[in-house]
Amino acid sequence: MAGWETITVVPRPALTLLPSPTALSSVTDSAGRLTVITGPSGVGKGTLVAQLLQRHPPIWLSVSATTRSPRPGEQEGSSYFFLDRPSFERQLAAGGLLEWAEFAGNLYGTPRQAVEHQLAAGRPVLLEIELEGARQVRQSFPAALQVFLEPPSFEELERRIRGRGTDSEEAITRRLARARIELAAASEFDARLVNGDLLEALAQLEQLMGLTA
Ligand code: ADP
Ligand code: 5GP
Repeated sequence: MAGWETITVVPRPALTLLPSPTALSSVTDSAGRLTVITGPSGVGKGTLVAQLLQRHPPIWLSVSATTRSPRPGEQEGSSYFFLDRPSFERQLAAGGLLEWAEFAGNLYGTPRQAVEHQLAAGRPVLLEIELEGARQVRQSFPAALQVFLEPPSFEELERRIRGRGTDSEEAITRRLARARIELAAASEFDARLVNGDLLEALAQLEQLMGLTA
């Protein structure tokens, strides 16, 4: 498992050279750049990203479309755009998704237009997506920074998924099986972060993204 000292950072050029003034508060070096965060379900992507956004408001997090049912507390339009399968498939057929994948029996995808609009405006954009989607983005946005978040151990990952208390036993089994596949692909990414201590992982992510506190 990668520790702090094993993190590899591959410098990549920014996607646009025209950052908007609003993006300059703490993110001068990464304005207009696309960052992808991937990692197994339950590793803490959502938790880490929420902390990052709180500390760096100029970062724009893409809201995905999904056919999954909302979990308690999730909001239409801010957690996800919750669609039925035919609506999702129509959006896909119309070229409206930047990437998409089936995950644990549901479809997930990134609405294209909003991402392109934010990048064109010079804003740093974050995608929190699974492995297949990250691979598609690697093809379409080779300059994007791709970060893989790892758990301290597989046992801790299972504890976190169960502790979250949002998934059925069947969903947990599917997500753990999928987690093994995702963890095996970690070396494809520009950087690997272990989410042991949350604040440590946050500091490492900030460093990778060229953010100052
Ligand atoms: P993901 O978005 O990757 O599916 P979540 O952000 O929902 O994962 O986190 C899964 C569970 O793990 C949540 O209950 C969260 O509070 C917990 N968690 C996240 N990061 C940590 C951490 N660094 N240490 C301990 N628990 C964590
Ligand atoms: P969850 O159901 O736990 O919210 O998400 C399941 C998985 O789908 C997570 O790994 C999450 O990162 C991923 N995911 C969320 N949105 C997207 C998306 O737009 N595209 C892809 N490919 N994966 C997504």
